[in-house]
Amino acid sequence: MADYYQVLVIGGGNAGISLAARLHRYKVADIGLIEPRPVHYFQPLFSHIGGGAARMSEAVRAQAQVMPREVEWIRGEAADIRPEENAVLLADGRRIGYGQLVVCPGLQLDWDGVPGLAEAMASPQVTSNYDPAMPEKTWKLVCSLRSGTAVFTQPPEPAKCAGVAQKIAYLACDYWREQGVLEDIRVVLVVPTPTVFGVKEVDAALRAKIAEYGIELCTSTTLAGVDAARRAVALAGPDGTRELTFNLLHAVPPQSAPDWLKDTPLPAAGDAGGFVEVDPELLRHRRYGNVWSLGDAAATLNYKSGGALRKQVKVLARNLAAVVGGREPRERYNHYGVCPIALTRHTLLFAEFDHQYRPMPTFPRLDPAKERRWAWVLDRWIFPQIYWHLILKGRA
Ligand SMILES: Cc1cc2nc3c(=O)[nH]c(=O)nc-3n(C[C@H](O)[C@H](O)[C@H](O)COP(=O)(O)OP(=O)(O)OC[C@H]3O[C@@H](n4cnc5c(N)ncnc54)[C@H](O)[C@@H]3O)c2cc1C
Repeated sequence: MADYYQVLVIGGGNAGISLAARLHRYKVADIGLIEPRPVHYFQPLFSHIGGGAARMSEAVRAQAQVMPREVEWIRGEAADIRPEENAVLLADGRRIGYGQLVVCPGLQLDWDGVPGLAEAMASPQVTSNYDPAMPEKTWKLVCSLRSGTAVFTQPPEPAKCAGVAQKIAYLACDYWREQGVLEDIRVVLVVPTPTVFGVKEVDAALRAKIAEYGIELCTSTTLAGVDAARRAVALAGPDGTRELTFNLLHAVPPQSAPDWLKDTPLPAAGDAGGFVEVDPELLRHRRYGNVWSLGDAAATLNYKSGGALRKQVKVLARNLAAVVGGREPRERYNHYGVCPIALTRHTLLFAEFDHQYRPMPTFPRLDPAKERRWAWVLDRWIFPQIYWHLILKGRA
């Protein structure tokens, strides 16, 4: 490991790997990437694993396998950033200097943010596709439930592709309907927002599906506590807090920027979330001109998702390459966001929208709020291939 890189990247997830690969394609040399985990996950497949339509082996690769050959993998964990000194400190005490820094360590899952949730995850009836160890547990629980109450909760933003919390509810209902047991299961879907999603056309499509499955929708409501021993959740809604007992709970934890990042000078003063203060279009830090950020850890305005990130990578790579080449950055990110929502185990709709939840369809002639078989095939079968073979290679 060197003690200086022209470009240093923190985080080898979706953002870090695809950006490093693209920078190399743009002839930017001397790139180091800090990543502690020996494996790399394609997280969007976790929902399909929870719904019984994919295997974990399809969602995971060795980190060494996805790391671009020309990029030096620094096996370690960033613990502090000293932008005034152009240096990053690792948890093991090493110090690395940089010319340009890209910060993309993703989001932290705050299991302790809901009383009782962290302990509840070990109980047999509680699961979360947001923990890589659990999508298979989700599917086992869905398969074994024949009657009782199933609760699915979505946390307030910031969250990774927040609507994905609903995806597993619809997939489970479709399975239970197929098994002829849906009528014996009370399904409760808890969302923090005043409407089910926030984009008018998508809300209408989801409401129709919710009615079709007989789901009880709780809007403007959040998970306020879990008592695993009594199999009970506390739900905080417009009329106060109420308790509900469950036989299956799929919970998505609250999320925030990593704690160590919150303590660096990179977040804006007063940003309790701790996200890296970038110009949301240029993706360059507002105060430190050689610091950049993208993906879930950046204080951009868009809905956080891998789909949004795909657009950000192109913008940031071009802007950073321009700056390294002595030119002004000119590319601008358009705040695009996307949430693929499976409505059955064979159909899906792509909700595509901007930072104000206004529709932003890739194919404007197609009704974006319509569930489609081909969209399912794209999300389940084609995107994983595009991810491993093109996106992580900086080619899509
Ligand atoms: C269950 C689930 C389903 C999803 N479904 C979809 C979907 O259908 N469509 C979609 O577009 N998006 C989806 N997403 C969201 C998408 O996966 C994320 O938005 C995307 O992975 C964000 O990329 P990132 O690189 O910012 O973060 P990540 O991909 O999470 O990567 C962050 C990386 O940083 C590393 N890191 C953390 N701390 C440090 C540190 N201190 N030092 C160095 N490295 C560190 C981590 O180990 C990790 O490798 C889903 C997410 C989940 C969890």
